[in-house]
Amino acid sequence: MGHSVLIVEKNPRHGGKLEQLEWDEYRWDKGPSLFTLPEQVDELFLLFDKNPRDFFNYKKLENACHYYFNDGSNFLLKGDPETRNEDFIKHFYERDGRAAIDYVQKAEKTYEAIGGLFIDYPKYGLKNLFDKALITKYPMLMSRKVRGSLNALNQDSFENPNLIQLFDRYATYNGSSPFQASGLYSMIAHLEINNGTFFPTEGMRSIVDSLYDLAIEQGVDFAFNEPSVSINQETVYQVNLSNSSVEAERVVSAIDCVTFYKNVLKDEKLASKYAAKERSSSAIIFYWAIEKVIPELQLHNILFSSSYEREFNSIFKFDEIPKDPTIYLHVSSVANPQDAPANGQNWFLMINTPAGVVPSDEQKNSLRKMIHRLIQEKFNVDISQAVLHEKVWDAAGIETDTGSFMGALYGASSNAKLAALTRHGNTSKKYKKAYFVGGTVHPGGGIPLVLKSAKIVANIIEKEK
Ligand SMILES: Cc1cc2nc3c(=O)[nH]c(=O)nc-3n(C[C@H](O)[C@H](O)[C@H](O)COP(=O)(O)OP(=O)(O)OC[C@H]3O[C@@H](n4cnc5c(N)ncnc54)[C@H](O)[C@@H]3O)c2cc1C
Repeated sequence: MGHSVLIVEKNPRHGGKLEQLEWDEYRWDKGPSLFTLPEQVDELFLLFDKNPRDFFNYKKLENACHYYFNDGSNFLLKGDPETRNEDFIKHFYERDGRAAIDYVQKAEKTYEAIGGLFIDYPKYGLKNLFDKALITKYPMLMSRKVRGSLNALNQDSFENPNLIQLFDRYATYNGSSPFQASGLYSMIAHLEINNGTFFPTEGMRSIVDSLYDLAIEQGVDFAFNEPSVSINQETVYQVNLSNSSVEAERVVSAIDCVTFYKNVLKDEKLASKYAAKERSSSAIIFYWAIEKVIPELQLHNILFSSSYEREFNSIFKFDEIPKDPTIYLHVSSVANPQDAPANGQNWFLMINTPAGVVPSDEQKNSLRKMIHRLIQEKFNVDISQAVLHEKVWDAAGIETDTGSFMGALYGASSNAKLAALTRHGNTSKKYKKAYFVGGTVHPGGGIPLVLKSAKIVANIIEKEK
C-alpha cells in the first residue's frame, strides 16, 4: 500500500514462536509443527507478484497423524480421502466408520456456512448480534451442536471412545478443553482432514525466513534487540526505541495484547481487563536428540492419555500439570531427513499444561520416565540410554521468549460459549490507528488464523486510506 514500515522486535531476530534449535547434526522447530492452509502464506508473495516457490516450498502429507490409543490400538489417519474413509470403516467398523465420514462432511458444511463469517472479517461484537449477516445464521448458531460442548457432540456422534477422543482433540488446536469449548470447533476437523496437512520442505522455520526475505526485498525496516520499546499516543504515535525515537501514523501490535498494553502502552487498566480472561493452555516441550530410529513414527504422532476428562480437568479446573497426559510426538526428520543423522531422530514431545504453571524438576523427571515407559510399551524400544541431548521449553520460557502472557499458546481460551465474540478485536476504541494481529486477538491463534488477522487489519487500513 506504499506505507513505510518499521518492525520493532525484542529478540535478536525475526520469527517469534517459529524459532528453531540446533545441536550437533540435529535441528528442531521450536514452536508450531502442524501446517494447514499453506496457500495463505503463498498469498503474501503473490501480493508482490512474486512466485512463492522461489522463496518457500511445502508438500502435502500422505499420512496426517498416527494415533496411539490407551487400549493398545492405533490408527493412521491418511491424507487421501478415499483411503481414509475405507480406513475409518475398517478400523472403527460400519456404524462408527460411516459416522466419522459423515461427521467430517458436516464439519465442512458448517465451515462453508459460517466459518468465513468469523474468520475472514473483523470481529462481531455483542452489539452486532442483530446484524443481518448473523441473523440468517442463527438456526445453525443455536443448534445443539453449538450449545453443547465438542465432547457432547462427539459422544452423540460415535460409540467408540477412541474415535470420541480423536475428534475431541481438535479443541486443543486453540488451546481449549473439548469438555467446555463449543461443538462448533468440529470445523477444525474439516480444515485438517478435508483440506489436508502440509509440511515445509525445509521445516517450519522456513516459513518466517522466507517472509523475512520478502519483507527485506520490499524495503521493510527491522529494529531487533528492542525489548523495552514504549509508545506514547500524541497526535501521531511516538515509538521510543533504545537509542532513538520515531513517529508513526499507525501502530500494529503483533504481540500478546496483554503484554502490549502492559509493557508497550503502559495501560494497566486494559492490560488487567484482558489478563482477567481464562488463558488457553500452555505446554511443556522436550526436544530430544535420539540415537535410534523408530520406523513406525510418522511426522505427527499422538499417544493418548487414559482419560481425556481427567487430563482437561487437571489443566482447566485444578491448574495442575496432568499426571497421565496425552503426548504429541513430532519427528520432523521423517519429512526432512537432514534434521537428524541417519541413525537418529529429532523428537519434539509436547504435553499440554495450564498457562502460568511451571513444571518442577520432579515433575519433569516423572514426565521423562513416563515417556520412556510409553515408548517401550507402544514400540517395544528402550530409549532410556538413547537421548543424547535435551532442551526443555515451558510456560515460563514461552512467556520470556515471546511475550505470551502466562506462556499461553493462543491467548484467551475458547472454552466459554461466546469466546469468539469476546476476544480482543483487531482495532481499539481507545487507541485510534492502533491495530492488533496475532494469536491473542480475533480471529484466534495458530498460523492460519494469525494470517487472517493480518489480512483483516490490512483491509481496514486500506479502507481508511
Ligand atoms: C509450542 C507451540 C506449539 C504450537 N503449535 C502450533 C501448530 O502446530 N500449528 C499452528 O498453526 N500454531 C501453533 N502454535 C501457535 C503459533 O505458534 C502462533 O499462533 C503463531 O506463531 C503466531 O504467534 P503469536 O501471534 O503468538 O506471535 P509470536 O510468534 O509470539 O510473535 C510475537 C513477537 O512479538 C515479540 N515481542 C513480544 N513482546 C515484545 C515487546 N515488548 N517488544 C517487542 N517485541 C516483542 C516476540 O519476541 C515475538 O517475536 C504453537 C505455539 C507454540 C508455542
